[in-house]
Amino acid sequence: MIFEAITVGSYYSNCYIVGSDETKEAAIIDPGAEFNKIDKKIIELGVKPKMIILTHAHGDHIGAVEELVEKYGVKVYIHADDAQALIDSQTNLSKVLFGKNISINPDGMLKDGDELHLSDLKFEIIHTPGHTKGGICIKVGNIMMTGDTLFNNSIGRTDFPGGSFEEIINSIQEKIFKYDEDIIIYPGHNSPSTIKSEKLSNPFVN
Ligand SMILES: [Zn+2]
Ligand SMILES: [Zn+2]
Repeated sequence: MIFEAITVGSYYSNCYIVGSDETKEAAIIDPGAEFNKIDKKIIELGVKPKMIILTHAHGDHIGAVEELVEKYGVKVYIHADDAQALIDSQTNLSKVLFGKNISINPDGMLKDGDELHLSDLKFEIIHTPGHTKGGICIKVGNIMMTGDTLFNNSIGRTDFPGGSFEEIINSIQEKIFKYDEDIIIYPGHNSPSTIKSEKLSNPFVN
């Protein structure tokens, strides 16, 4: 599997490129900003972007979506409960965060338990509300991209529209922690961790 992390934008959001070794087809997770930086990596890796999967609709995770769609014709996927926020620049905070109205119509709406297939890769969708209503984690093999739900030793904010502290704690404990402890988590901000390490030392869920 091809896997690359790129940190982009003024909020240091993590964008991930997940591609197939066999066909070079790739999914872009959370292209938050800096299209040129992401595109440079796409070219360097020689991958063919086919889809964008968004962990949630916030402005710091969607800033380069439009340019990627324009250049590569990629399809955009988001959980159904965050779809409206993706269209509405007030709710997705792009207006307040960047003074730029981002409004994107998704091509596909996801729900818990969905699987997206790309070449030999399987993307498993895990609905983890709490940071936003339609927040998801995306599991591919033994890695899981956790968006702004679970961070290395921390959790996402719950004071934005649609946020809930009870829900985020429940999502982490019931939906994420049931997976194998050796799974490496790649969050929406900051450095990776493992489910095992978060179970042991994350102060919010212990
Ligand atoms: Zn967020
Ligand atoms: Zn974020």
